[in-house]
Amino acid sequence: MDRANIVIVGGGVVGAAIALEASTVWDDVFLLEAMPKLGMGASSRNSGVIHSGIYYTPGSLKAQMCMAGNRLLYDFAAAHNIPHRHSGKLVVATSEAEIGDLESLAANGRKNGVEGLRIVDRVRIRELEPHVEAVAAIEVPSTGMIIAEDLLKTYARIATERGAHLLTNARVERIEPVAGGMKVTSAAGEIETRCLVNSAGLFSDEVAAMVGNTRYRIYPVRGEYGELVRAKSHLLNGLVYPVPRHDGLGLGIHLTRTLWGSVLIGPTARYIEDKNDYERGREPVENFAGYAHHLLPEVGLEDAVLSYSGIRAKLLPPGEHGQRDYIIEHDPQFPSMIHLVGIESPGLTSSLAIAKHVVPMIREALAS
Ligand SMILES: Cc1cc2nc3c(=O)[nH]c(=O)nc-3n(C[C@H](O)[C@H](O)[C@H](O)COP(=O)(O)OP(=O)(O)OC[C@H]3O[C@@H](n4cnc5c(N)ncnc54)[C@H](O)[C@@H]3O)c2cc1C
Repeated sequence: MDRANIVIVGGGVVGAAIALEASTVWDDVFLLEAMPKLGMGASSRNSGVIHSGIYYTPGSLKAQMCMAGNRLLYDFAAAHNIPHRHSGKLVVATSEAEIGDLESLAANGRKNGVEGLRIVDRVRIRELEPHVEAVAAIEVPSTGMIIAEDLLKTYARIATERGAHLLTNARVERIEPVAGGMKVTSAAGEIETRCLVNSAGLFSDEVAAMVGNTRYRIYPVRGEYGELVRAKSHLLNGLVYPVPRHDGLGLGIHLTRTLWGSVLIGPTARYIEDKNDYERGREPVENFAGYAHHLLPEVGLEDAVLSYSGIRAKLLPPGEHGQRDYIIEHDPQFPSMIHLVGIESPGLTSSLAIAKHVVPMIREALAS
């Protein structure tokens, strides 16, 4: 049987970032990913936005990880030639009634330490986005875009060069406490490890339950995207968000000009039953044209096509409102196991910061 210092369950952007950081410190780091490729979950089904940190509750782990992750990601992307754009974004009010929401959002961002925020008028909005109809906006300079797939591939490549073993087709099926750690049984075989990191995204509650920890529950919330037809993609230059929803389900349906020139409309937000259900009962394409039309009046009902969808790993139960923070903690019964649960947006932005946060926890687990 193989023996490891660290086994990471889940090869999304967060698990891969942890493999990258852990492999700078320890030998025998293994990552086990259920799917045939890394990053087939939320990590390849998102907006690819490098978030600024304006939305999150001051002092929360989400706010801290996003603020630190934003800077780390820009530096990492520049150092490793990962396609990205430091574009900035606009959060727009489409009516006078929304201006109060804009002001409180900007105040929240400033509390989190987001720099350079300013409320701008219609003239400035038109300068940046000539086709957007809005009465006021927050200009957010630290937001940007990155190609998530290239980021993850780079994490994985460097981790492998440092000696980490990243295995795919390796779904973890059983975890048993043994003397000095855990025995992990996956589709790729058995391995004993001194420290186990649960970074299984949507399935992190189920992985925790393998050691009898039933305190977490993930509620899958699907986010669907449409896309503007090519002939209309010139209508948007960058990133335009509405004022955020009050229910905590998402940031609102925004418009994103991707690094390859298409314009995404979305994501929507809807609780679903099945964590693997990306497509059943999708919203009609006209809805996406309607969402885009709200911000870009030149978009007509025929101007959108359906695009991909992703599923958020929410800790917020249906019917409740508000933000839930990331859970990153040792298992109460088995301290050699670390759980990362509810790593929804801004998880991509936060990935390096989360990994750096987990390294001392691994050190503690190895010492226990
Ligand atoms: C619609 C949408 C839009 C988003 N937009 C943004 C954005 O613009 N910016 C941003 O910063 N964040 C965004 N996010 C959030 C971001 O995508 C996630 O926070 C991030 O990808 C989470 O990474 P992860 O590694 O934790 O999870 P995942 O990418 O889901 O990876 C978990 C992995 O664990 C594997 N796994 C599960 N069970 C097992 C098992 N038993 N054994 C082995 N492997 C297992 C899965 O196959 C999966 O590959 C968005 C998310 C969604 C859904």
